[in-house]
Amino acid sequence: MSPDSSWKDKYLKALESSEDLESRWNSQRNLLQRMLVRTSLASEGQDPELDGLLSQLRGELRKGSPDSATWQKLQDRIDRRVSALDEQKAESGRRLKATLEQLLSALRSHSLLAGGKDRLRDLEKRLREPETLQSHFTDWLADFAGVLEDAFAQTGGQGARPGVFNRLFGSREPRPPAAEMAAAGEAVQEDPLPDEGSVEETSQRLSIARRVGELLGHMLGQVALEPASEARARRLQESLLNSDDWDELRDGLNGVAELVIAAVTRSQREFEAFLRRLDERLESLRQCFSEQAAAQAGRRNASEALDREIRDELQTFGEQVKSSADFDQLKASVGQHLESISGAVERFRTQESERERNLSQQLQLMHEKLAAVEAHSELVGEELAAERQKALRDVLTQLPNREAWQERLAFEYQRWQRYRHPLTVGVLDIDLFKRVNDSYGHKAGDRVLQLVAKALSERLRTTDFIARFGGEEFVILLPETPPEVAKSVLDGMREHIASLPFHFRGEPVSVTFSAGLAEFVSGDDEDEVFDRADKALYLAKDSGRDRVIISGSEPADG
Ligand code: GH3
Ligand code: MG
Ligand code: MG
Repeated sequence: MSPDSSWKDKYLKALESSEDLESRWNSQRNLLQRMLVRTSLASEGQDPELDGLLSQLRGELRKGSPDSATWQKLQDRIDRRVSALDEQKAESGRRLKATLEQLLSALRSHSLLAGGKDRLRDLEKRLREPETLQSHFTDWLADFAGVLEDAFAQTGGQGARPGVFNRLFGSREPRPPAAEMAAAGEAVQEDPLPDEGSVEETSQRLSIARRVGELLGHMLGQVALEPASEARARRLQESLLNSDDWDELRDGLNGVAELVIAAVTRSQREFEAFLRRLDERLESLRQCFSEQAAAQAGRRNASEALDREIRDELQTFGEQVKSSADFDQLKASVGQHLESISGAVERFRTQESERERNLSQQLQLMHEKLAAVEAHSELVGEELAAERQKALRDVLTQLPNREAWQERLAFEYQRWQRYRHPLTVGVLDIDLFKRVNDSYGHKAGDRVLQLVAKALSERLRTTDFIARFGGEEFVILLPETPPEVAKSVLDGMREHIASLPFHFRGEPVSVTFSAGLAEFVSGDDEDEVFDRADKALYLAKDSGRDRVIISGSEPADG
């Protein structure tokens, strides 16, 4: 059937392309999982809790069949932790700023720093600008140290060893007074004796040192230091708070500056290192994507576009990382690029799932149509079978008809040819039936035919077969039955029918039949056996009716 085969073709095509889509989707998913694993590895080392979450994420990714609810939860927790970290960073920046503001205002009221008041005010002003803490903190600290240095130089003389501050704050050009003092300090080979100064000046210096000691305590609570540096800071704080020895205090102050710078530059260095690591990971990710792209040359536009978008993003990003010296710019760039990449991935995912949805709808439609075709053909089959049954049945008696007889005869004949078991054919004819019609009408005749047919078929074994051959004539097939046995069966039938109480118009009427029997013998075909049985029937009629005669035997007396 042609509609069947075209449906089948479409169905198979749909199935093929769904398998193709599934395998491509799987490879894309693997790729994305690998990307996430790498990105999560690159992000490690910022915070222990975040590290824990990222390691859970990797565990989930490696499972192969991710559970979307678990993913969603993990993602929410990671998002929350990242914003908490951001908040912490901002908070620690705010506290550091407050502490420094306190320090500045304390210093401004000291007569020791009276000469540097403008510069202190300038420092305060710069401290209020958000970029100072974020990007220019090292510069700010250097300027601050410069102010302190100048103040100490003016009041503490050679003992202040001003060169130390400059050495600490590195790259910046030393300010003229500090440079002069550095030269002076070296020229006198570092006078080991503390500067005597006035009593007032000494007490002012001590009070500054105490103040710095206190502030150091505050700072220790706000800046993350390695354990060794932290212990050193505690010792410095101790001496600032308790010592009266100016040299010791001055060394302490230098130590504080050194620690603060170490803390600030360390975290900046670490973050930059993190960004560069991330960049490397993203680069290897890009390579991985382009390798995949080469391997799957025939991929659809969506995945090619995704690949291109990611490659472009990463390239721009890589260039920015290389050229960017600014930490904040770098940070913003990472965020922006990651966002673009995730946007591209999201778009790709949406397109793919849309396609998948369409395809499965199409597939579903095919299934339904196929099922409808199947149901229809089943129905047609049933109708055909019913039609066929009808075609093989006699309407009046509901017995198999002449066509059914020919079929069955051919079948039993073949069996007989193979097994040679006895097989007998009988031809039956109702005696003087014309009279019934003539006397009581055609309807009465029909009724007689129906009742005789019923009585005959009821008395046969299920392996036997009876059909209405035509008019008032019936045919019988008796497998596994020699003619003598068949004769006794038919005689039983004949007697039974003869005894049926037919009544027409109140008169009892007896109905009899005559029959001829013939057995299949070597060399026979169906027609030959039938003819012999038919001849035996005529013998029965001729010899007085209401009897059964076996072909080839003497006619029995009626
Ligand atoms: P015989 O004993 O020699 O067979 O005599 P008979 O009258 O039975 O034989 P005959 O062939 O002369 O008549 C057969 C009659 O059967 C003729 C016909 O009207 C009747 N007949 C055949 N088919 C039907 C039928 O379907 N319904 C009815 N009511 N009568 C039928
Ligand atoms: Mg007849
Ligand atoms: Mg007859």
